[in-house]
Amino acid sequence: MKEKIGKKKTIALIAHDNRKQALIEWSRTNADVLGKHILCGTGTTAKLISEGTGLQVKGFKSGPMGGDEQVGASIVDGKIDMMIFFWDPLTAQPHDPDVKALLRISVLYDIPVAMNQSTADFLLKSSLIEKEYENHEIDYYDRIRKDNF
Ligand code: PGA
Repeated sequence: MKEKIGKKKTIALIAHDNRKQALIEWSRTNADVLGKHILCGTGTTAKLISEGTGLQVKGFKSGPMGGDEQVGASIVDGKIDMMIFFWDPLTAQPHDPDVKALLRISVLYDIPVAMNQSTADFLLKSSLIEKEYENHEIDYYDRIRKDNF
């Protein structure tokens, strides 16, 4: 299934507590490019990036309160095109199942995802950041048909 990502993208920004400073600094460095797109994020991350960069970032609920699930639901609805998610590889999270669900949904709907700074740099500096792009969702129903017949 093909879906189109427009030139102007809606980008979700999320960071676990120990990674928030890194994402704020990265957002500050890349504020000129980020400012050309629509930004959103989990509650605390969105607020801190907004304060730290002056960019407008729409906040969902905080991650542990269901914010990751809200971001995931927006990906399903086709309302988020890209995600920068600095998750913490050294700390267990109370909402780990939600994090896992969000990462699964982002793969299923084939949106570009960066989980560390170098990938975030590659994504933002890609020429595709300012072009339309047809992504390729995994077609679940097609797979079921093939499995059954
Ligand atoms: P927060 O949520 O931005 O509200 O801290 C992030 C997360 O823990 O997923």
